[in-house]
Amino acid sequence: MPSLKAKEKVNIVWFKKDLRLKDHQPLFEAQKENIPTILLYIFEPILLQAPTSDIRHFRFIWQSLQNINSQLNCQNKTLTICYGCASDVFEKINSTYQIHKVFSTQETGIDITFNRDRELKKWCAKNSISWIEFQNGAIIRGLKNRKTWSVNWETTMCSPINENNISEINVLDANSDFSDVKNILSLEIFENNSNFQPGGETFGEKYLSSFLNTRFVNYSNGISKPIASRTSCSRLSPYLTYGNLSMKQVYQATVLTLRKTTNKRPLYNFISRLHWHCHFIQKFESECRIEKDNFNTAYNQIRNEVNQEYFQAWKNGKTGFPLVDANMICLKETGYINFRMRAMVVSFFTANLFQPWQIASKHLARMFLDFDPGIHYPQMQMQACTIGTNAMRIYNPTLNSKKHDADGLFIKKWLPQLANFPTDLIHEPYLATIEQQQLFKCIIGVNYPMPMIDLKASSKFAKDQISSVLKTENAKLEISRILTSHVKSKKRANDERNKKAKSSPKKLSVLQQTLFMEEEVGEKLDGSQIL
Ligand SMILES: Cc1cc2nc3c(=O)[nH]c(=O)nc-3n(C[C@H](O)[C@H](O)[C@H](O)COP(=O)(O)OP(=O)(O)OC[C@H]3O[C@@H](n4cnc5c(N)ncnc54)[C@H](O)[C@@H]3O)c2cc1C
Repeated sequence: MPSLKAKEKVNIVWFKKDLRLKDHQPLFEAQKENIPTILLYIFEPILLQAPTSDIRHFRFIWQSLQNINSQLNCQNKTLTICYGCASDVFEKINSTYQIHKVFSTQETGIDITFNRDRELKKWCAKNSISWIEFQNGAIIRGLKNRKTWSVNWETTMCSPINENNISEINVLDANSDFSDVKNILSLEIFENNSNFQPGGETFGEKYLSSFLNTRFVNYSNGISKPIASRTSCSRLSPYLTYGNLSMKQVYQATVLTLRKTTNKRPLYNFISRLHWHCHFIQKFESECRIEKDNFNTAYNQIRNEVNQEYFQAWKNGKTGFPLVDANMICLKETGYINFRMRAMVVSFFTANLFQPWQIASKHLARMFLDFDPGIHYPQMQMQACTIGTNAMRIYNPTLNSKKHDADGLFIKKWLPQLANFPTDLIHEPYLATIEQQQLFKCIIGVNYPMPMIDLKASSKFAKDQISSVLKTENAKLEISRILTSHVKSKKRANDERNKKAKSSPKKLSVLQQTLFMEEEVGEKLDGSQIL
């Protein structure tokens, strides 16, 4: 017989990709309600099995949850961590308690999470539960164009940080209603791996403060270099992806440093990346079909066949181009390579090997510790030249190797079979004579592969194919559509800034100064065209 006792009313704060306790709006709103609150994290099978997921992501999430728990446990509070389909988990909680409200942060995710949210919305409506989702930073749901987006971005970034006070929340522990995730999930998730950045709010704060205290000074010089970038770039990407830090926290801390230092240029360059972060996520939020389809549909007619041999060689670092191979191996081992190296390996796959970006994108999503669909898919397509609004970019791995890994130290670290090659041959080891190869104890074609394609001919072929699509009417129509919905006219942005600069030159906002500075530098840091 069903119990006649009224069920206890509860609220839920559903943690998704906002794994922190500070500047957390769902928590802040839950704090205002005097109702027992379950702080919930769900390990969902749809995500554990997703083609974009890897153990590294769930390890980072687990570490982030442990970090939250270590702060909560001081107040005898805890997260409820469980495994299951979100709808089953909510159903189960609702059978024991009466869920009143669910608070969470909007997620710009893959189609799997989008569909899950749609289903759950229906379930909440059916059960008279109000699910309140808060905007994620400056990312606006349902945005139709970018006319006021940049202004909104800055307003959001300058707005006050949410003052969370966990002691004010009456946390309800619902762990006993679920099986212990430690008995369900792969053990590897719970084991530390020192090759990867560790997850959690505390580590995010440490990376942020070490960057703003010292590391930022080398930011612009090191940004393109595969070794230097590992320390001179902020390395904040996984902490932003999993929301261990909010973008607002990072932006406001950076502006404080900017005010104190005379060395402003690297920080302006950094702020422009923070702006890009949201700019790309906004693109994906507004047009999420690009997870699978070409941004510019005119490109549907080329690169449709997959060559498995090419894919395996690229993925396993066996292309015969040392900088490409070293990056693919480094990425597999550590979860990180810098922007230019990401762009280069994608360009090699999609231009030189002339393969569809969709195949590369799944592998890279699994490998990037910071995989964020909102940045990943627009960037993949930008590097694969399937948008048509930017200059065509084909990166030359040999030139990049000579310029950015001049002494070959990065190559030698990740391709130890090439360790004995001198600097003048490390970038093109196939140029060594057979006597030299014997001397260096590495026979090309045996211990290290011969280059799998002709770089020059393959670049020309790709350029010709991509340019011919670009000339079609369909491509032009698509470009105009993309510009209207995703880009603010440059002229309009310049006019606004110049007007403001004339009337009150000192009153240019940090973002306007950043964009101004970028124009001065010609935005050459990450390059454009044939690189
Ligand atoms: C093909 C490709 C795929 C990418 N996929 C991702 C991804 O899944 N997740 C991700 O966070 N970044 C992605 N990036 C962007 C960029 O490479 C990384 O953000 C950056 O290398 C992370 O290192 P960092 O935190 O030290 O960056 P910093 O240079 O210190 O920049 C600070 C922050 O700004 C943002 N940012 C920096 N560069 C870019 C950029 N070009 N576009 C958008 N945001 C940027 C990131 O949030 C980064 O953490 C991708 C780039 C390419 C070319």
